[in-house]
Amino acid sequence: MTSGSDIAAGSENIGSADSRKSVIVIGAGLGGLLTAAALAKEGRDVTVLEKLSLIGGRFVNFEYKGYQLSTGALHMLPHGVKGPLATMVKELGGQITVVPSSPMAMVRVPTDKTASDYSGGFEDIPSAQFKDHLSLKNKLIMGKLTAKYLAGMIPEEDIGFKSWFTQYFRDDRMERYADSFAGWSLSMTADETSVSEMFAIFRNVAKYGGPGILMGGCSSVINELVRIIKENGGRILTQKEVTSVILKEGKAAGIVCRDVRAKGYGDPETLTADLVISDIGHKETFCLYQENAEKDVQNGYLSADALRTYEEQLSKIRPSAGLKICFSCDEQLLTHGGILLTPYARRINGMDEVTNVDPTLAPEGKHLIMTHQRTAPDRLDHIDEEIQMGLDDLKDIFPGKNLEILVIQVHRDGWPVNRAFSGTDCGNLTPVKDLYIVGDGAKGKGGIEVEGIALGVTKALELIRGTAPEKEIWKRPVQQTKNAREPQNKKYKNQ
Ligand SMILES: Cc1cc2nc3c(=O)[nH]c(=O)nc-3n(C[C@H](O)[C@H](O)[C@H](O)COP(=O)(O)OP(=O)(O)OC[C@H]3O[C@@H](n4cnc5c(N)ncnc54)[C@H](O)[C@@H]3O)c2cc1C
Repeated sequence: MTSGSDIAAGSENIGSADSRKSVIVIGAGLGGLLTAAALAKEGRDVTVLEKLSLIGGRFVNFEYKGYQLSTGALHMLPHGVKGPLATMVKELGGQITVVPSSPMAMVRVPTDKTASDYSGGFEDIPSAQFKDHLSLKNKLIMGKLTAKYLAGMIPEEDIGFKSWFTQYFRDDRMERYADSFAGWSLSMTADETSVSEMFAIFRNVAKYGGPGILMGGCSSVINELVRIIKENGGRILTQKEVTSVILKEGKAAGIVCRDVRAKGYGDPETLTADLVISDIGHKETFCLYQENAEKDVQNGYLSADALRTYEEQLSKIRPSAGLKICFSCDEQLLTHGGILLTPYARRINGMDEVTNVDPTLAPEGKHLIMTHQRTAPDRLDHIDEEIQMGLDDLKDIFPGKNLEILVIQVHRDGWPVNRAFSGTDCGNLTPVKDLYIVGDGAKGKGGIEVEGIALGVTKALELIRGTAPEKEIWKRPVQQTKNAREPQNKKYKNQ
């Protein structure tokens, strides 16, 4: 294998004179690093290229005023110590400590059951007891519906979860609860989440258990993955932005990248490899090879139909946006290390007080709390109002408390909460052989956030090893005819 030019000091022509299958990973986020660590451990020659100077993407700590904040996640694994991510990291030889949240989650409800906000007082109840407030009739309906669903008697149409259950019973608390759960865990409403995805999530909660906090925060996972990659001969090159994926006869054959530090980005550098894995999402990756794919269609190496089907799938992908407020207090605000869901707030869906588990995430004597609020696509142009509503919520949720706002982070577009709405992921395959997608644009079914990433990476590895069938509809047999179809003019733009 050859490289057009050396990529950086210490980054020799990757894999040259090496019989091991060489792999390029685009993006050093959690999905890219997990895949890189697994493939490096298998003996492959792995190089990860990351455009930022920071490794870890949206799952890494950064320090601010002595607090360990994060670029995205709230230092929490949705399925804790037994979940797909923790299991995979441990199987790779990573040492992480995940403290199970007990209780799994609390829900803050108004003491007056007819109230629609917290102004008249509130109480916190365990999420497991939430259904107890339902009338006997609604409890029976809910039990019957769940049993039916689990028995495989699913609705013909995969409608939104809320639309589905409100056909059978209405209960304001239940609807609010469903929205705050979906908002917290997926940055979606309960109606944006399909009923099949919601039940897949419930099944995973039953299978793997509830959430847990990472000792040391998100970086504890990233640091271990970096160690494993390096110990197994892999390389992680930062400030290298991949600008295109090279195709050769319908297969991925390498990438072109540029050095973001160099004046005018320097000369483009070409690296060849046997396998290209992208951690930047389907759409964003397609932008890197669309022109090359269209040429390959014209030359008969790629199927025109397969490419069109894939493009149709891409047009349906929607990222989910959200807003995070990190704040501190001199006193402990929550009595537990789990989630507090806030279904009666204006915007905030929930929060965790991570210092209840790991006090080192804040300066001595300080408590660190992080909130999450889903942001609707049509509210992204009114983000100041959304922030204000989140701040107003904090006054109602913690009346009379002295809170110090540390950082407010808006997650959207190229740095979203989720690259694809849960349940709408496009899988790991692309129309191009030897090019796979991992990360939160290719999550496994029912996998909340990083757990979905781990499930998706597991599937990608099976596909790479040839132990899973390639089922995606755009993987039709390639038509070896020239000019099978005129390429579409539509170009996907990087957001
Ligand atoms: C506010 C918020 C709260 C969250 N809370 C939680 C939580 O509590 N628990 C949980 O499990 N999950 C949570 N998540 C989700 C979780 O953080 C993400 O799903 C996960 O970090 C995404 O990882 P990834 O590898 O898919 O993508 P990324 O982390 O985005 O990694 C992709 C990497 O690719 C790089 N890149 C992009 N383009 C190029 C290019 N052309 N060349 C080279 N490099 C490139 C990027 O710089 C980035 O580093 C949260 C997310 C947000 C935003």
